[in-house]
Amino acid sequence: MRAFDGKKLVLASHNKGKLREIAELLEPFGIEVISAGDLGFEEPDETEDTFVGNARIKAHFAAKSSGLPALSDDSGLAVDALDGAPGVYSADWAETPNGRDFPMAMQKVWNRLEETHATEPRTARFCCTLCLAWPDGHDEVFEGKVKGHIVWPARGERGFGYDPMFVPEGETQTFGEIDPARKQAMSHRADAFRQLVSGPFKDLAK
Ligand code: IMP
Repeated sequence: MRAFDGKKLVLASHNKGKLREIAELLEPFGIEVISAGDLGFEEPDETEDTFVGNARIKAHFAAKSSGLPALSDDSGLAVDALDGAPGVYSADWAETPNGRDFPMAMQKVWNRLEETHATEPRTARFCCTLCLAWPDGHDEVFEGKVKGHIVWPARGERGFGYDPMFVPEGETQTFGEIDPARKQAMSHRADAFRQLVSGPFKDLAK
């Protein structure tokens, strides 16, 4: 496991919700965080059909373009009764000619679930793969998840993406309603992040 010993890290994401959550998780480590968007990088095409594959594409692209270590996040919602859909295509399901529309994407998930007549609870999980890549081509990959179930109608405006239709195991509120600090403690992203902290960031941990 390669240790991260730099002072600067590029966040290889253009998603504002993810950027906010990752920047908050990184705050205690005293690393200067620069987003790929602020450096003017385009988003590379996510041509793989796994979270790991797409996380690698994004992190290596940003590391090579910037000459700095880069951290990417590929994540999504996997619904059991839909055979793991939307999964790696979570962002694509929200795509419209005028940008991403998550109320529409959530409605689509719910409609598909209704078609399956799946029994309740309609179990699902959020998955997150973090990839830390260096400009020389080395990388370290961490996979996190949080289990829960799907509810309808969607509730809450505190999160992003599919948060309003997902209730994590042991909770009654959706990720859209829950205190963001609580989501940060239990989310798929936090799960992957804990592995990063006990691996490449171990020597930086406070
Ligand atoms: P990608 O990883 O950029 O391909 O996009 C993943 C998509 O999954 C995002 O656009 C979100 O809609 C969704 N997603 C990932 N993480 C979360 C989360 O923590 N809450 C809600 N939706 C998420």
